Amino acid sequence: MGNEQLEELRGQLDDVNEKLVELMNERAHLAQEIGRVKSSQGMNRFDPVRERKMLDMIQEKNQGPFETGTLQHLFKQIFKASLELQEDDHRKALLVSRKKHPEDTIVDINGTKLGGGEQHLIAGPCSVESYEQVDAVAKELKAQGLTLMRGGAYKPRTSPYDFQGLGEEGLKILKAISEKYGLSVISEIVTPGDIEKAVEYLDVIQIGARNMQNFELLKAAGSVNKPVLLKRGLSATIEEFINAAEYIHSKGNGNIILCERGIRTYEKATRNTLDISAVPILKQETHLPVFVDVTHSTGRRDLLLPTAKAALAVGADGVMTEVHPDPAVALSDSAQQMDFPQFSEFMNQLELSGLYKSKKTATK
Ligand code: PEP
Ligand code: MN
Repeated sequence: MGNEQLEELRGQLDDVNEKLVELMNERAHLAQEIGRVKSSQGMNRFDPVRERKMLDMIQEKNQGPFETGTLQHLFKQIFKASLELQEDDHRKALLVSRKKHPEDTIVDINGTKLGGGEQHLIAGPCSVESYEQVDAVAKELKAQGLTLMRGGAYKPRTSPYDFQGLGEEGLKILKAISEKYGLSVISEIVTPGDIEKAVEYLDVIQIGARNMQNFELLKAAGSVNKPVLLKRGLSATIEEFINAAEYIHSKGNGNIILCERGIRTYEKATRNTLDISAVPILKQETHLPVFVDVTHSTGRRDLLLPTAKAALAVGADGVMTEVHPDPAVALSDSAQQMDFPQFSEFMNQLELSGLYKSKKTATK
């Protein structure tokens, strides 16, 4: 008997729940409609005066047994969800977001597929210093089975008196070496007007941390048909980083690689603080390949291997690092670049860790 009564009451409760679901969605449709009207009139979606009126109405109509405060609390949640619905509708998902494009974007650089499940390394000197220097690095990378070489031709330096890079001459050296070894080259461009020129020389255009919010540069890079590696700004939030990528995509170029390179914090033990959790967040929020630059994020040779392992373990599509024939005499970042024996050991250790699969045989 008791059980039958319980079943009966539960049945009634289910009916009410069903009606509530219908009513909530009826309300959601109305809220969406209101959102559209407001947006067409350029009005703010959140209206505190209107919310206050609705809360007062609850007080007026409430006959219990729920306390008014309880109902008002529940309704506040409904208001919040409705507002979010209006905003989602309005904002539309970003082009770089997973919401917009659930599948991973694969950036194909002359056959090397970034973001396609296999992890890759980008290595090379901080700066292009001479043909011979780049040639020596290229030979080493080739021996390690790498296909992507970096090297700075335009160097954004803290001091105007430091080596500023070889400029176009540096791009020419990269191009010549890329042809000689069949390597793809990546280099930073700092001026919107240089983007067109860069397309002739490079396989990937890098936009550096200091230029992450140089919107004219982002738009220029978005207007050409060339993959772009975008680095996170020194003090940029993940949201700002994603929006910077959106600037590139919004102009038509969706071949974007995101690169976490450490952010500025109060910690002085490392050059920057590697924000390792940014990697899975960027992977979740966007469909773009995500790299980690272990050189600039740590500024310490002894941390390159552990941070590279961490990056790969946490789901990065690859790692960027700096290699120089003789770091002690490098014109920039001499304290943190690896020489060839160190690089070879770094590669061996990465492979031994099981986190990186050597491509040595594949490229022979
Ligand atoms: C670089 O990669 O050469 C460089 C300058 O890095 P970042 O822009 O991350 O400082
Ligand atoms: Mn450097």
